Amino acid sequence: MHLSPDQTAILETVRDFCKEKIAPLASQYDRSGAFPWVQLGALAEIGLLGACVPEEFGGSGLDSVTYALCLEEICKADASVGVLVSVTNGLPQQMLLRYGTQAQKEQWLTPLARGEKLGAFCLTESSSGSDAASLKSTGVRDGDDWILDGQKVWITGGGKAQTYLVMVRTNPEKGARGVTCFVLDKDTAGLTFGKPEAKLGLHAAHTTTVNMSNVRIPDSQRIAPEGHGMIVALSSLDAGRIGIAMQAVGIAQAAFEAAREYAFNREQFGSRIAEFEGISFKIADMATRIHASRLMALEAARLKDAQLPYSKEASMAKLFASETANFVAKEAVQVFGGNGYSREYPVERHYRDAKITEIYEGTSEIQRLVISKQVFKDLKQ
Ligand SMILES: Cc1cc2nc3c(=O)[nH]c(=O)nc-3n(C[C@H](O)[C@H](O)[C@H](O)COP(=O)(O)OP(=O)(O)OC[C@H]3O[C@@H](n4cnc5c(N)ncnc54)[C@H](O)[C@@H]3O)c2cc1C
Repeated sequence: MHLSPDQTAILETVRDFCKEKIAPLASQYDRSGAFPWVQLGALAEIGLLGACVPEEFGGSGLDSVTYALCLEEICKADASVGVLVSVTNGLPQQMLLRYGTQAQKEQWLTPLARGEKLGAFCLTESSSGSDAASLKSTGVRDGDDWILDGQKVWITGGGKAQTYLVMVRTNPEKGARGVTCFVLDKDTAGLTFGKPEAKLGLHAAHTTTVNMSNVRIPDSQRIAPEGHGMIVALSSLDAGRIGIAMQAVGIAQAAFEAAREYAFNREQFGSRIAEFEGISFKIADMATRIHASRLMALEAARLKDAQLPYSKEASMAKLFASETANFVAKEAVQVFGGNGYSREYPVERHYRDAKITEIYEGTSEIQRLVISKQVFKDLKQ
């Protein structure tokens, strides 16, 4: 893929940075489950916690293509760090940038974009995952304030992030149009967090419940008009899906490079296993699918930068890249044989980390729903 000299320079810097400061810690953090503050702090220093926010609000003002390529490098080094970076950049910051007032941008977006604070996105509830618009948490007006009650589940960065973008029901009669978005500070009275979930992978990216009990906030913390919460959330998820597609590409690339090196060095029956077609064709399939996934995600990012519709392309990229990550990580374990099943080698972690990319920010089934709806809509036009 052709990149401009500026993009190439940024990418080389980020690649070296991730190799030196993030990758060496990944296995240790996966095992301990410690939250990766050190890595996030280092990324904040080079401007990657506010990558696409304009400089006037404290961000780095990168285009979406450059940011996507940086995210691949971060996720290749450590997918746990990568998802925290993807969420804060792709969801809260995009929501505030697109729908926040000038005052809200100054108060809430700027500290996020400077990397002084981390952002979280709170949509899912125990009874509403894929069917997100059926959420039950409530927001009730009380004079100039709102009172928020309810529980969000599976919130990435829960209890660690400082800024929460939360969708609650403000009108029980209006379905998806009865949901409103609010921004909350972690230290607000009535806001509490559960313990980190014990998960298959992404051990360092803590995921908790976010509990709201009689949380009182002023109307100035409402993002966009009342009833627009699902529009705010879903349109931001389009950008988020490019991020998850690149997370999947990063995981796949890491597994691919490990498998390629192992196949080149491991000998059986008197030759390198890379010389057996059964292995070399796996490597070829991995390389091809990763290349296609990356191009799809970058094309969605390019459309976003050109301010053209990209919802279908973002869903296609997320679907294909996440299935690719799972395919590549599974084949990488196979190339490593018994060693692939061992914690001593990184492909075991990539195999566990890859699975989530098919689930969050819309499962593969939901991506197929989004894509098929759009494909048939194209036919009607
Ligand atoms: C590690 C992790 C981090 C997460 N981080 C966040 C976060 O930061 N913020 C947040 O808000 N949420 C987060 N989530 C929640 C995540 O987005 C949801 O888990 C996901 O959207 C699926 O919802 P669900 O788990 O309720 O599954 P369900 O919706 O119950 O789905 C169960 C199964 O049914 C399928 N299904 C459902 N509806 C249909 C349909 N119409 N057609 C075909 N199949 C269907 C699904 O694809 C899936 O296979 C996270 C989840 C995890 C595991």
